[in-house]
Amino acid sequence: MTVLEKRNVPLCVPELAGNAMNYLRECVDTNFVSSVGPFVDRFERDFAAYVKTGRAVAASNGTSALHIAMMLAGVGAGDEVLTSTFTFIATVNPIAYAGAKPVFIDSETETWNADPALAEEAVKERVKKNGKPPKALVLAHILGCPANIEPIKRVCDEYGVVLIEDAAEALGATYIGGDLDGLHVGTIGEIGIYSFNGNKIITSGGGGMLVCRDEKKIVRAKHLTTQAKLPGVEYSHDEIGYNYRLTNLAAALGASQLELLPEFLKKKAAITRRYNDAFSGMEGITLPPRPSFANPSNWLYTMLLNPSKTNGIDRRVMHERLKERGIETRPTWKPIHLQPMYKECELFGGSTSETIFDRGLSLPCSVGLTDDDQDYVIETVKSIIEEG
Ligand SMILES: *Cc1c(COP(=O)(O)O)cnc(C)c1O
Repeated sequence: MTVLEKRNVPLCVPELAGNAMNYLRECVDTNFVSSVGPFVDRFERDFAAYVKTGRAVAASNGTSALHIAMMLAGVGAGDEVLTSTFTFIATVNPIAYAGAKPVFIDSETETWNADPALAEEAVKERVKKNGKPPKALVLAHILGCPANIEPIKRVCDEYGVVLIEDAAEALGATYIGGDLDGLHVGTIGEIGIYSFNGNKIITSGGGGMLVCRDEKKIVRAKHLTTQAKLPGVEYSHDEIGYNYRLTNLAAALGASQLELLPEFLKKKAAITRRYNDAFSGMEGITLPPRPSFANPSNWLYTMLLNPSKTNGIDRRVMHERLKERGIETRPTWKPIHLQPMYKECELFGGSTSETIFDRGLSLPCSVGLTDDDQDYVIETVKSIIEEG
């Protein structure tokens, strides 16, 4: 590799292979591209079978699926909902759509997800202050790493808080050992949601899924995504619904991607292994979390850079220098409690997520990433730190 070499290595792009063209062509050939057609049912069925849960309802995206989850949980005006602060904004906005107020929980260092001890403290403190528990808790499993859900679920069960899992980034991740052994992330709380946006582990162009074991809630979710229209020809509606359905075209692509998911997960795990082998033992680099109780999906490979031990190279400098070499990277999210719309909301803890924000950088990890391109990324990261 010469010093001047410059490639083009994107962060995380879709891998459109397998039956994608066959299924999309079938939609076009049969004229079923919109709200009618067999692929939505099929995608829902195959998805529910994959994550081994009761039933699934497709939605236009992960955010709309979460909005529906709020309604199923009975979240309404004036309610409080606990949620992770270190996550993508889409975890939190649906709480506001429902007229409720988020109360933020900081990350733990083991998973970077909501800290169970702080979640418990928050539930107890709200009970003391408001005389009732928060209505729900939206738990994000970020970057593909499962949250430490067992103690959080215990507290939610004890106080009657509806546990909603935002598994948008963690499709395919599972728990290991104990009561949760083998269970998929997103199927442990009362309601779970997933996303098939273009940068997620599988994509339908844009799309989402809601899972729940309560058949009544599933029926209502479907109803709410389809304008709450009652059967029959007369356009009768029994509540305010939404146009949140997934199109047959999107579901066709989603169904083709789901077939490839096991292969994608293997590739993502291999990418993580190669980066970890290269960076482990390097001063100033913290590898992504890998809790003992779970198999992550390895969606987005994210490390922390401590500039006091990397010759002053922080994640901002690293991002810029890698960009000059054609390597796309991304900082982690600014915690939601620092965003202007939510900065008045209550917060339990806060410093852990702020540190991860300050130090986090995601590296290229598309399913199609070649070993050669990954070596280029690794060598470039190392040389940037060496040069300082
Ligand atoms: C992508 C994402 C969502 C929302 O998904 P969309 O399909 O883009 O609406 C929700 N939560 C998290 C954590 C996400 O990363």
